[in-house]
Amino acid sequence: MPCQHVRLPTGGTAIVCSSGRRPQCACGQPAPLLCDWKVPARRSGTCDAPICRACAISPAPDKDLCPAHAQDFETWKAARAARKVAS
Ligand SMILES: [Zn+2]
Ligand SMILES: [Zn+2]
Repeated sequence: MPCQHVRLPTGGTAIVCSSGRRPQCACGQPAPLLCDWKVPARRSGTCDAPICRACAISPAPDKDLCPAHAQDFETWKAARAARKVAS
């Protein structure tokens, strides 16, 4: 079981051990995709939640969002549309 030292954004480190299994979506399916929603607090800069093709929402080619961030995306889109109407 490979273990990795991971530096946390808050400082300090954590040890992350992977079981060697493929990443799994929240629904239990194998997850070939990662959420691309921007999360500046994360070191990678994106959410990186594992998602399967059935659960992923693709707002653009090569962009995939987890269900939680797909909702955020809808909110963002609505806010942007509202701003366009206002200006
Ligand atoms: Zn899924
Ligand atoms: Zn996400």
